[in-house]
Amino acid sequence: MNSHTEGITILGSTGSIGVSTLSVIRQNPDKFHIDGLSCHNNIELMAEQIAEFSPNFVSVSEKNAASLKNQIKKTNKNLTILEGKAGHIEMAAKSTARKVVAAMVGAAGIEPVYAAIQSGKDICLANKESLVLSGSLLISEAKKYQSKILPVDSEHNAIFQSLKGDKNSSLKNITLTASGGPFRNWSYNDFNKITVADALNHPNWSMGRKITIDSATMMNKCLEIIEAKWLFDLEPEQIEVLIHPQSIVHSMVTFLDGSTISQMGVPDMRTPIANCLGYPDRIKSGSPFLNLADVKTLTFEKPDLEKFPTIQMAYDVLKLGGGSPAALNGANEVLVEYFLDNKITFIQIFESLKNIVDELKIIHQNKNIVEHQYLVDINSISDAINADQWGRNFVKKNIEI
Ligand code: MG
Repeated sequence: MNSHTEGITILGSTGSIGVSTLSVIRQNPDKFHIDGLSCHNNIELMAEQIAEFSPNFVSVSEKNAASLKNQIKKTNKNLTILEGKAGHIEMAAKSTARKVVAAMVGAAGIEPVYAAIQSGKDICLANKESLVLSGSLLISEAKKYQSKILPVDSEHNAIFQSLKGDKNSSLKNITLTASGGPFRNWSYNDFNKITVADALNHPNWSMGRKITIDSATMMNKCLEIIEAKWLFDLEPEQIEVLIHPQSIVHSMVTFLDGSTISQMGVPDMRTPIANCLGYPDRIKSGSPFLNLADVKTLTFEKPDLEKFPTIQMAYDVLKLGGGSPAALNGANEVLVEYFLDNKITFIQIFESLKNIVDELKIIHQNKNIVEHQYLVDINSISDAINADQWGRNFVKKNIEI
């Protein structure tokens, strides 16, 4: 069965990107079948996905495995159910899928991504943390195992499409567009009134909670600058950010001859997902088509770096190098969690991130006596995870909640 279709495995199938990926697959039954699915907690949705897509492998967190086994034991005899982090890693490696969609949120996704790369599969990468934590290592492993990294993140997918066929040496710079989030027009003086509900109310994109808060702080753009540096082998100064509130131009590339090439579309993640799933072909995504006569106006403005200090932090931690981006990411993950739980204010996210960048600068000035070598050099996945953990601990030590 399914021998004529291409196998796809989705890490994080019940989240926003996972669900959109299955929506694209549903529209292309002649091209794809699902080989593996993983999720953390949403067992009800996972059971529905299993019933619809009949995967060979499923991996869920330990505490949910028994309940899932009970729900599906009568119907799926050929299904292998794996458990926990080891299960996600095993599935990423053992699955016979040619492409693995890495759609888990946060640093937890990094080890399954490496397992998929090291088994030679191509990666449709939505988990930006894998690159933020260990970009240099990930790209060199992908080369070694001949695994293609196809960017799902809409901005990076736009760059990927715009670069097609052109050499890096002909590139001047890239421009990542940003909607500016819900607080673009707020005065900084009102930032102390921001509630969780305000921050979750993104003007254009419907996304998971973590990334929606990151869009509100513009930390998402900070992570995307780091992501772009590794994906496209750029110098940080070749990466610019432009606010584009309509989210129609998803990013652009400027070449030495003065040509600027961009990719446009309505803000719908099914388009970049379909671009990666179908690559090198183009397939249906189910996304509505762009009608510029309806949109009428596209506007662009420079980001306000004082109001959103997170953008500059990307350049700061890239300059420091080593585990600095990983540490910043780990700190941010804890801060977003605290904010969503109403334990800290929106402004405290900025303050704490500034503190950690300052601390990293001090550590890097004293490189020779550094106790935590992984903050200076990342040579392994565990170095990257340690640096991320260092950032988490820094926040936990320095913020009283
Ligand atoms: Mg993005």
